[in-house]
Amino acid sequence: MICEMCGKESDIVRTIFLEGAQLKVCKECSRFGESPEGKSSSKKGRGGTAPTRAVVAERLQARERRMRSRDVFQEETVIDLVPDYDKVIRDARMARDLKQDELASRVNEKSSVIAQLENGSMRPSDQLIKKLERELNIKLTERVTLVKPESSKGSRNVLTLGDLIKKEK
Ligand SMILES: [Zn+2]
Repeated sequence: MICEMCGKESDIVRTIFLEGAQLKVCKECSRFGESPEGKSSSKKGRGGTAPTRAVVAERLQARERRMRSRDVFQEETVIDLVPDYDKVIRDARMARDLKQDELASRVNEKSSVIAQLENGSMRPSDQLIKKLERELNIKLTERVTLVKPESSKGSRNVLTLGDLIKKEK
């Protein structure tokens, strides 16, 4: 099954309700919505704070981009934050046996910032991305090819920007 939120292949999918829509998502994404029983699943897990609405909206937008038509007319490559940056940062920090506050002081941030990055509730700034990449020797960005479909079909050109079709390694 493919997670309808992040698009990853996942053995186990859960049905959640988000903004009134029913979605089948992977375990990781299930914390963004309400379970069918009506209980919020965001309390489970690592005990971090729930992602903000902005994060959720962003993920939905990413999903929408992936599901949009694939009429290819124009491509544009941009550098974007990797979707699993939270895990990448956490894994790299653990691999170096650093505590959150130790990493925080190395990149001149509060440990709460590191905690928020690692539970996905905050995106790092460009500057912080560079510092973390250097400090942990990781890659937090990826090249993403955006496709602009033919724009003559409608007036909503702004919203048709960025149909995401493939990633380059
Ligand atoms: Zn997912």
